[in-house]
Amino acid sequence: MEEEDPLFYPFASHLDWKVVCWAVQEGIGHKAFDRLLAIPGVREHLGLQYHNIRSLHQTIDSIPAWAKWQSTHLSFHDKPQHKHELHYRNPLDAIQALLGNPAHARDIVYKPSTIFSDSTHSTRIYNEMWSGRWWHAVQGAYVALVIIASNKTQLTRYLSVDKVLKEELSVKEASSRTQRLFHESLCIILEPLKEAGRTGVEITGGDGLVRLVFPIIAYYVADYPEQFLAMCSKYGTCPKCKARADQLAEVQQFAHRTQSWTTSVINEANTNTNSNAAFCQHCMAQDIAGGVFELFWLDFPLCNIHLAITSDNGWSGMGQIGGKERKHMARVLLGCLIGKVPGDVIQAYCSLLDFIYLAHYPTHDDTTLQYMQKALEDFHQHKEVIINLGVREDLDIPKFHSLQHYLENIKNFGTTDNYNIEMFERNEKPQMIAWLTRREKVSSFQSYLKMSMEDEEEEFAHSMFGDQRLLLTKRPHQARCHILNVIQDHNCQGFKKDLISYLNSQLPDPHSRGQL
Ligand SMILES: [Zn+2]
Repeated sequence: MEEEDPLFYPFASHLDWKVVCWAVQEGIGHKAFDRLLAIPGVREHLGLQYHNIRSLHQTIDSIPAWAKWQSTHLSFHDKPQHKHELHYRNPLDAIQALLGNPAHARDIVYKPSTIFSDSTHSTRIYNEMWSGRWWHAVQGAYVALVIIASNKTQLTRYLSVDKVLKEELSVKEASSRTQRLFHESLCIILEPLKEAGRTGVEITGGDGLVRLVFPIIAYYVADYPEQFLAMCSKYGTCPKCKARADQLAEVQQFAHRTQSWTTSVINEANTNTNSNAAFCQHCMAQDIAGGVFELFWLDFPLCNIHLAITSDNGWSGMGQIGGKERKHMARVLLGCLIGKVPGDVIQAYCSLLDFIYLAHYPTHDDTTLQYMQKALEDFHQHKEVIINLGVREDLDIPKFHSLQHYLENIKNFGTTDNYNIEMFERNEKPQMIAWLTRREKVSSFQSYLKMSMEDEEEEFAHSMFGDQRLLLTKRPHQARCHILNVIQDHNCQGFKKDLISYLNSQLPDPHSRGQL
């Protein structure tokens, strides 16, 4: 049995913690775990402090959370009896947690840079977001770029209009209701970012410095159908620009949809119509979805929500298959087609594949961006064969059209790996909030331990205790690991245990204080 070590508090020992980590991260079934612990002697031999999954969860729950879940409900004046539940956390807390994490301290970038391939500064390189043009354009102070991401499968499940209400509404009304729910929910969730984006908020970084940080929404990452929802654009048009549904196959550039333009159309519809149906018709005539009265992205400083590109690149109808598998399938399919279809089809297919592979480069420069442009031009040159063969009547397909926006996106926001929807996908489970919070706590404790146990932090620890400020009270776990590093550097090990015990006793939740 391992000796109790305060470093692992609220867990009894290293082994006690490792078993928790295994049970949570591997998703071990509750009953199976209880049966394991019920085997006589297992708990005693391993020195585990919990006797079943419930008490294991209680121990995890006692770790301070980075933010509290809040709940509210939305209802609409025509059906006030129908309440839609909304569970969310304050995005400012998320920003504080991410920037304040010492494990990220050396990787956080607050200011943009322009990078070139050599000292002549003739070829610019694009990779991380800070290398793109957009950040340079908004920069004036310390900026925390906020990315909003959502997943359609989960979003429609959680934001959908419930069955009872659906029976009372027409199909059109139900779809409008979903649009309003989406925008009005995001209005509530993102509200704290408005003021913070204008006046800034003091944030303690993982390096211990307090900075005045301005959180600015940079872009929205979503699957294709959701982009329409977010941008309030009519389904089947382009959510980024004003290309009409019958212009999507054209090569020319169209003017961007802007916040002010969309708002002006909605306001115009509000003033000039007196029924929901007329309002909807007025908006739809200008390629704007007709169900939204209040757009979630209004009134954000500097923000004209930008859309990132989806990961699936137009290979649709493949359900659960990830972007990577789809890419590989496409490559294999090309081989199967050779000799069986006209040369132009192969050319069109090939140029599309080239474009997709190039679009996934982790770094681009002007030359590789030209390759992408060339692949796109080749595709447009050969695409007519699809119509000539009678496969389709037209090529006004939003996903094909969206390829035109890739180059601009890479120049503005860096390469596509910065805004790939797969990065943001989470699995859904029953009792999602508790499950999610526990997983987050386990991973944050893991990162705290990693910091605490690393020896290589000498330079870092010295910088902490230079002329810079260290905030102990707000983030006890982080403060603990900063201090541990310093103690190790100064070789005063005897002091460590007492200090940890003291800091543990200062944790905000009285239930989380235990015997050491
Ligand atoms: Zn477009």
